[in-house]
Amino acid sequence: MDLYEHQARELFEEHGIVVPAAEVTDSPKQARGIARRLGGRVVVKAQVKTGGRGKAGGVKLAADPAAAELTARQILGMDIKGHTVGKVMLAQPVDIQDEFYVSYVLDRAAGRFLAIASAEGGMDIEEVAATRPEAVARIPVDPAEGVTSATAARIADAAGLPPQSVDVLVRLWEVLVREDALLVEVNPLVRTGDGRIMALDGKVTLDDNARFRQARWGSEDTAHEDPLEASAAAKGLNYVKLDGEVGIIGNGAGLVMSTLDVVAGCGARPANFLDIGGGASAQVMADGLSVILSDPAVKSVFVNVFGGITACDAVADGIVQALGTVRLTKPLVVRLDGNNAARGRAVLDAHAHPLVEQATTMDGAAHRAAELATTA
Ligand code: ADP
Ligand code: MG
Repeated sequence: MDLYEHQARELFEEHGIVVPAAEVTDSPKQARGIARRLGGRVVVKAQVKTGGRGKAGGVKLAADPAAAELTARQILGMDIKGHTVGKVMLAQPVDIQDEFYVSYVLDRAAGRFLAIASAEGGMDIEEVAATRPEAVARIPVDPAEGVTSATAARIADAAGLPPQSVDVLVRLWEVLVREDALLVEVNPLVRTGDGRIMALDGKVTLDDNARFRQARWGSEDTAHEDPLEASAAAKGLNYVKLDGEVGIIGNGAGLVMSTLDVVAGCGARPANFLDIGGGASAQVMADGLSVILSDPAVKSVFVNVFGGITACDAVADGIVQALGTVRLTKPLVVRLDGNNAARGRAVLDAHAHPLVEQATTMDGAAHRAAELATTA
């Protein structure tokens, strides 16, 4: 789960990193009051979980409380890369002398973390990284050892950051470890006119596997930005939205993953990952179907079940019952194999729903589902 900038700012502050005084609101009127409290002049910042807000017009300086109200009114409701701005943060303006870039990111392939830092931070960091990669230092961090003062000094030295940033680098690592984060990024980390090091922007991605330990972020909003994922999560389904047009339901994560591959191999694109697990009851099947059918991109649905402890006839009964509660609007291709497959197929044959077809092999079913999706 990504945190909002204001949440990242709060964590930084708790870990002793200097941040500008700031407050959050969803009301332009309150923005005026906040600006007054913060000294009049403020930076008004859209709170959305995407970068590049500055370039999109989501970060603006307001000269006084009246201007802050106006600017907040302008930014609230704005669309930034598909994210609607629901809240703004008003922050004290900082006298920036230099802008740096610093992040710790999990490097799964290497089984380590990577410290990425540059003395040329700010809104053009992507361009700096692309055109002059030598201006961006990348230092591996051993997760067991962490970022000690010595490691931090090496990072600062490699990136050309001032010596005062060493303490901040150590504290940012503490944020990562204590808060169960997979990514901590500060861009810009700045040196002010009077020589202080401050974090002016922050991105923190928490490890969803640690959500039970990070309950404080649970209520504001969930990991699921996508409304379909949110509704699936509410039903307890293991669902991930993808970009394609073939809806997928399978039992077992491994089978579902190989189903995605086989569908892709047939020239179609999977619309989702959905593992209904071992039970595959009528209710779970109905919930799964209703989530998939409410995705307008879906053109056909492929149900791929290998009967094990749950027999295929029980799954077929589940499908038939689900069809009684969910109105099928798109063709459904079912492949049942394994325990009691013949009985399961007979149940579906007897039901004879006009939009339901069966296939005996996974490849055959994938081809048919792909064909139905591309000709639909
Ligand atoms: P984003 O990265 O989404 O564009 P930032 O928070 O990094 O948003 O803001 C963009 C730029 O605005 C920063 O690079 C910095 O130059 C400036 N900025 C942000 N916050 C402040 C602040 N409190 N005081 C002065 N300038 C700021
Ligand atoms: Mg930034």
